[in-house]
Amino acid sequence: MESTLSEYLNSQDELVREAALALPHQFSQCSYALGPLRQAVYLCLTCPEARGLCAACSIACHTNHEQIELFPKRNFRCDCPTTSIAHNCTLHTKLEPENEGNQYGQNFKGLFCRCGRPYDAKTERETMIQCLACEDWFHESCCNLRERPTSREPSPAPPENLSSQNDPNHTETGDDAASEASSSGLPPPLISGDEYESFVCGSCVSRNTTLQRWAGTSGAMLVARDSPGSSWRRVSGPEAEEEVVQVDDNQASSSSGIKRPLSPSALDGPETKRAKGSSPIPHLAIPSCLAPPQHPLAATVMSNLNKSDPNSLGAGDIFLSLGFRDRWCHCHTCLPPLKAEPYLLDDEETYEPPDDPDSGLSLEELGMRALSRIPRDKALDGIHAFNAMRDDLVKFLRPFAQDGKVVNESDVHGFFASLKEAAAKKGRE
Ligand SMILES: [Zn+2]
Ligand SMILES: [Zn+2]
Ligand SMILES: [Zn+2]
Ligand SMILES: [Zn+2]
Ligand SMILES: [Zn+2]
Ligand SMILES: [Zn+2]
Repeated sequence: MESTLSEYLNSQDELVREAALALPHQFSQCSYALGPLRQAVYLCLTCPEARGLCAACSIACHTNHEQIELFPKRNFRCDCPTTSIAHNCTLHTKLEPENEGNQYGQNFKGLFCRCGRPYDAKTERETMIQCLACEDWFHESCCNLRERPTSREPSPAPPENLSSQNDPNHTETGDDAASEASSSGLPPPLISGDEYESFVCGSCVSRNTTLQRWAGTSGAMLVARDSPGSSWRRVSGPEAEEEVVQVDDNQASSSSGIKRPLSPSALDGPETKRAKGSSPIPHLAIPSCLAPPQHPLAATVMSNLNKSDPNSLGAGDIFLSLGFRDRWCHCHTCLPPLKAEPYLLDDEETYEPPDDPDSGLSLEELGMRALSRIPRDKALDGIHAFNAMRDDLVKFLRPFAQDGKVVNESDVHGFFASLKEAAAKKGRE
């Protein structure tokens, strides 16, 4: 198959023009003007000031800079156009005063979790979980969900919460625990990612009496141990219910008096019946509160949260199961602490840069979309590689065009072979 070079170059120009259009449409606007928002925030490691950038600025203003994506942070206003960063913003060119309202926690020093370790996408083997309240990230092992991996070698699968949504290898087998274990080479966690919708870390739980009250119930699972020497287990309701988890379904439904595990609330469970009976459950002494019974171990962990060694029986993290926002009790004790943290009651909106209004679906546009779904550092590499390749190709083809020569397949093969050679040479250096 042959085509004249001018045809080829024209089509190349067209592609390049489309690529240039695709990029600005998605990333032409800094979110600064919109004020503080919950949005994906990027930390630039190249700029000396540890400040957060919006998605558009991370691409448009700090393209060649090393960055970490910190994922959503609420009440955040882009600092790229402000005096707090010396590097000039190319999108919002008016110099703005420093954002006083931005919270600059340890993530902006590149440190994560209660262990305060740095995050390295290349070597991190563990899944990390984001706290709904403080929005810091936690290692599964630091939540006592599983052993700490012995080595932090790169894992065959990327870390879950940073990728699972878009992982093409992620199959809905219904046996997430097993697939997670095999893909990462680690044993399955005590509570697997598909069993909870949100996570709140122990230190955030310790500031909210309602979360403490619900910790260790079916909708707010807890990881704890009976003594500092015993092994970690999940606590998700009173002892009797936990035993039922071992019983198979047939037995559970045929024998009366055995409760269904994971009953979503005391309202439809046997708890209400039992309250009318002979053995009252202490918390139901206040009949207006609908919080399900709490496991005594959960109560102990909660009462130890602010003590000197709060981690001995459990870190106090809670794993909120699907639909948790609809299940809270709205009594005068439970509701006020929830209202103080509105994201516990209502799902929050997270700002995203507007979609490309011209959905021409060019190759480059599709490419850009694919790039936006892979980790930021890799995406930036991809953009650089694409630009470098395009420039080289145009340089290579220009003499053919000037001479009106026909480009044939072997010319193109030759071009890619020379690219490969150059890359290999670079690799050897
Ligand atoms: Zn910005
Ligand atoms: Zn930068
Ligand atoms: Zn900017
Ligand atoms: Zn940690
Ligand atoms: Zn937290
Ligand atoms: Zn209540």
